Amino acid sequence: MTARIAVYPGSFDPVTLGHIDIMKRALSVVDRLIVAVAHNSQKKSLFDIDVRVRLIEQSVADDRLQVMSFEGLLVDFVRAQKAQIIVRGLRAVSDFEYEFKMAVANSKLDSSIETLFLMASESQQFTSSQIVREIALLGGDVAQFAPESVVKACQEVKL
Ligand code: ADP
Repeated sequence: MTARIAVYPGSFDPVTLGHIDIMKRALSVVDRLIVAVAHNSQKKSLFDIDVRVRLIEQSVADDRLQVMSFEGLLVDFVRAQKAQIIVRGLRAVSDFEYEFKMAVANSKLDSSIETLFLMASESQQFTSSQIVREIALLGGDVAQFAPESVVKACQEVKL
């Protein structure tokens, strides 16, 4: 049987406990998970891409999980990794429309790639990178929303 390889793409600026919850859930249904950190030229990020990658590596220890950065079309990256699945997380209702649109677009670009939606636990439904960034920039404590590595990195963020 071929290994089920999934790609979990996002900005991860920075990784949150919500993202980590999704990664763990994904690992319970796939054989390998590649977390793909997007270079996003349109959004100004709080953390550089290399830092975003490192913060994820420091937060999840599983030899079936690999963190990479990527640029360009997601379906091209998924194919290059010989993966068959795109993992996305869904929060309450806020993510649905955007996620649905992306899934349909990706499926039109490559119908052999399946998008798998996972729901984070109830306690992480309102966690977002944006909340973490805003709290960090105002000097607040992000420990309820982000892993230890991110808490430390946020303390070093200069206003
Ligand atoms: P993007 O850069 O596409 O906005 P993010 O890096 O913010 O994406 O998140 C990547 C994926 O993780 C998206 O599918 C997003 O909906 C999902 N996600 C983010 N936070 C949570 C959470 N707290 N619970 C469930 N899914 C989440």
